[in-house]
Amino acid sequence: MILPREKAFTSAQLAEVEGILAEYGCSVTVIAGTTRTIYAISGDERDEEMVSRIEGLDFVERFDRIQAPYRLMHRASDLSSHRVKIGSAILGDGFHVIAGQCTIDPKNPQYFLETAHAVKEAGAVAIRGGVWKPRTSPNAYQGDDKALEILLRARAETGLPVSTEVMEDRHLQVVIDAGVDIIQIGTRNALNYGLLKQVGKGTAGTRMVVLLKRGMHMGPVDEFLCAAEYIAAGGNPNVVLCPRGTKPELDGYRNFPDESISPLLKARTWAPVVVDPSHSVGKAAYVPFASLAAAAYGADGLNVETHVCGSKGIGDDPKQSITPATLAKLIRDCKEIHSLSAGYLVPVQKA
Ligand code: PEP
Ligand code: MN
Repeated sequence: MILPREKAFTSAQLAEVEGILAEYGCSVTVIAGTTRTIYAISGDERDEEMVSRIEGLDFVERFDRIQAPYRLMHRASDLSSHRVKIGSAILGDGFHVIAGQCTIDPKNPQYFLETAHAVKEAGAVAIRGGVWKPRTSPNAYQGDDKALEILLRARAETGLPVSTEVMEDRHLQVVIDAGVDIIQIGTRNALNYGLLKQVGKGTAGTRMVVLLKRGMHMGPVDEFLCAAEYIAAGGNPNVVLCPRGTKPELDGYRNFPDESISPLLKARTWAPVVVDPSHSVGKAAYVPFASLAAAAYGADGLNVETHVCGSKGIGDDPKQSITPATLAKLIRDCKEIHSLSAGYLVPVQKA
């Protein structure tokens, strides 16, 4: 990655850098962070001659070579001063909660709108709602474009940012055109590198946040960070990591709860961690415990399914949505626990 001496290169400077890199089969992606612009290199960046030619340019401050398989997401990356924002909330500063229904029922929009107002009242900073759903059975409800209008109406009525999952290029284009604030990449697509690249490219240079769920079959933590790297390398550093449980499940739970990886992630990356306790345990009664554990493990927030009347919901809502009253208590209690866990330092992993 190349760091400019000033806040960003001029177009003539960028052209000069690109010209040199091209001679060595490399290219550059411009990544605008909150404090400075950095230039990520795609290709083999180890050629000593290339490195010294770039370092010899007087408008270049530094050529950073991080040895990890993920460079931009690494805690030693110059993106580490980048802050991901959801509306006016800065992730990493306090404990923030995204809440709302698993699935927006287009036949009953009143539930989603009531839920949106209720989660705002409970203290959530953004509203989640599934427009399109990745379902195990092709015969189960798959989502509906009409639900997007309901999501946008909830944003207009509450003034809060909204989040929804995209599974394919068409969804991505629709949410980009609609200016949806948070794009969720679900557990099933966490290793869909083509989609991750498209999401990074399609949202480059915008304020859009990408909430990346951990793949349910992912192994090492680095696999998760490499998936996030695809989004950042596409040009969007507004990436949020979302552990949501893995398989095989812990007997009695829907998945194997993995909020405990939060400090491991924080040792390796600067990216905020927002835990999904709902899919992790899969039952509303256990969600508060997984949420409190996430706060104790130092996560920066939650992505939690909530419904004003879960039994009337569709998708996961009847099983795992908590009520707005539980959410309100949980947000208060998690903030308290989070302030205690914030008093412990996370080790830093070397680059
Ligand atoms: C969801 O958030 O409703 C969802 C389907 O999540 P996951 O991809 O984690 O299963
Ligand atoms: Mn769900």
